[in-house]
Amino acid sequence: MSEKKIPVTKEDLENIALEHPTPFYLYDEKAIRENVRNFYKAFSWAPGFKNYFAVKACPNPAVLQMLKEEGCGVDCSSLPELLMSEKVGFKGEEIMFTSNDTPPEEFAEAARLGAVINLDDISHVNTLEQSAGIQEMVSFRYNPGDLRSGNVLIGDPQEAKYGVPRDKIIEAYRLAGEKGARRFGLHTMVASNELEDSYFVETACMLFELAVNIYRETGINVELINLGGGIGIPYRPEDKPVDLNWVSKEMKELYNRFIVKEGLDPVNIVFECGRMITGPYGYLVSRVRHVTHKYKDYVGLDACMANLMRPGIYGAYHHITVPGKEHLSRDYYYDVTGSLCENIDKFAVDRPLPEIEPGDLLVMHDAGAHGYAMGFNYNGKLRSAELLLKEDRSAQLIRRAETIDDYFTTLRFSGAPVSL
Ligand SMILES: *Cc1c(COP(=O)(O)O)cnc(C)c1O
Repeated sequence: MSEKKIPVTKEDLENIALEHPTPFYLYDEKAIRENVRNFYKAFSWAPGFKNYFAVKACPNPAVLQMLKEEGCGVDCSSLPELLMSEKVGFKGEEIMFTSNDTPPEEFAEAARLGAVINLDDISHVNTLEQSAGIQEMVSFRYNPGDLRSGNVLIGDPQEAKYGVPRDKIIEAYRLAGEKGARRFGLHTMVASNELEDSYFVETACMLFELAVNIYRETGINVELINLGGGIGIPYRPEDKPVDLNWVSKEMKELYNRFIVKEGLDPVNIVFECGRMITGPYGYLVSRVRHVTHKYKDYVGLDACMANLMRPGIYGAYHHITVPGKEHLSRDYYYDVTGSLCENIDKFAVDRPLPEIEPGDLLVMHDAGAHGYAMGFNYNGKLRSAELLLKEDRSAQLIRRAETIDDYFTTLRFSGAPVSL
């Protein structure tokens, strides 16, 4: 069981809303920092342990800055993410570049920054050579195919577009070595939002064994094993978070059994988690506009699916707290909706809640990763502000809300000059 509490009172939120109208995202700085510290503590045995935060989960410089201070690197998947990371001050191998279907100019930019480049296919060795030159450090993303089953979110590895398949992975290292790479990384990412502890141990086992095989076949000793992201979070109150201490203990044994025994120690052990870092500590705060009674009872919010699309596209559960009504029994059932002209624009269906009135604040939990970031502008919906909740409970604006001018910026109204 995870207790679903918000880190502020109704009064705090109303005060914040005086200055920053709803809807807005609120990230809890203290909780995120503590969470990262616990993650690092759990893996303190692991050589070079680092989490390269997946920028796509929460692409905001203030969040990245905070994670940098806590010792994280960044995992980027595009040019804008690389440039944002550079602006925040991430340098060289603090940056991982894990992309797919990558244009040559992005390889070139990643190389300019000295990032660890994770290649998604054996043919990308040539693409890299032509666009940026073979780097001293080269990493490959491995796709185990039918050796592993993925999960619902990411799908079956055999159906996945990602990574170097089993029958080409040894050849990939050999080729990169022949072309001049001298240092090597090994990466995989086979699950997303996975809550089963043993899954991560199996992934580690698979990669440690593969590292031994690569060494035996090619003489190449990978110096970095990247276990990817995908550690899930307990979205539902009855979900159990991944037991990182147990996962770490099991991984350590495997590390000794494979890596140390083969004489390959030390190999840096890293992750590129996004969701489990910021997800549970970010909230979407919105206000109730209307409560209507049709064939069902509806709560209409000033936020919509354009602010948080996970419920609409995945049917994902996000717990809802009504500040000030935490202690009332949840004996009303509502569909909680937004204002989009799409009937999938529902944050919750048949959700038991206390009786709701217009003007109530509603807080959506676990929105700190893949929340704001997946937002969109359909129906001319403007994107919300993002706020950082400081330790003294004040809120710092870390991204202002979009304006109509922002929305019109890329448009060309007739008669207006087109500037390129
Ligand atoms: C999305 C992604 C991540 C982060 O996933 P989380 O579920 O947020 O931990 C890490 N690595 C790669 C390659 C990804 O595509």
